[in-house]
Amino acid sequence: MTSGPEVDGAPSPASATVRAFLGLGSNVGDSRALLAAAVADLERMARVRVVGLSRLYRTAAVGLEDQPDFLNLVVEVATSLGPFELLDEAQRLEREAGRERTVRWGPRTLDVDVLWYDGILIDEERLRVPHPRMEERRFVLEPLAELAPHLVLPSGRSVLEALADTLEQAVEVLDPPKE
Ligand code: ATP
Ligand code: CA
Ligand code: CA
Repeated sequence: MTSGPEVDGAPSPASATVRAFLGLGSNVGDSRALLAAAVADLERMARVRVVGLSRLYRTAAVGLEDQPDFLNLVVEVATSLGPFELLDEAQRLEREAGRERTVRWGPRTLDVDVLWYDGILIDEERLRVPHPRMEERRFVLEPLAELAPHLVLPSGRSVLEALADTLEQAVEVLDPPKE
């Protein structure tokens, strides 16, 4: 059971929650099970509450194309973690899924990107939000549009407007990861 600060009706300013979106992907191992397990871990995580879950998408790998298709989804969370703390937790999930860091954009059991955090802009090597490549990726924009179609991205466009420019990329919608 997670208990957010608002559960007992006495929110404390020190732990106010903000809204954030995480992009999850997998193309090694039992990707569907790995993604479902990552979502379950997020649901159990202290100071994180899962408030939205997109459908599951299958996409051909981009960037480094000679690898298995990816399964992707987007999770919306309400969290009192700071952006770097949320990144730490995201990377912990990747390690727990047995991810090995070899080549950039290469195959992986689990990738968890912080896509957007409370509308703030961070431009550090360790953390860039909003995620600098999300606006050109249908496999991010399509699931994100289910949860937040009108979210405004750094280009000034909404998720739906950015999505309209990526429709040449093929994505396939699958069943939800959990029934
Ligand atoms: P891409 O970022 O293009 O989706 P990737 O997910 O394959 O590529 P990784 O190898 O997972 O890239 O991450 C490389 C580094 O990016 C990480 O060590 C991390 O510190 C940094 N990073 C910067 N911004 C973010 C972000 N918004 N979410 C996750 N990691 C980020
Ligand atoms: Ca990524
Ligand atoms: Ca990543």
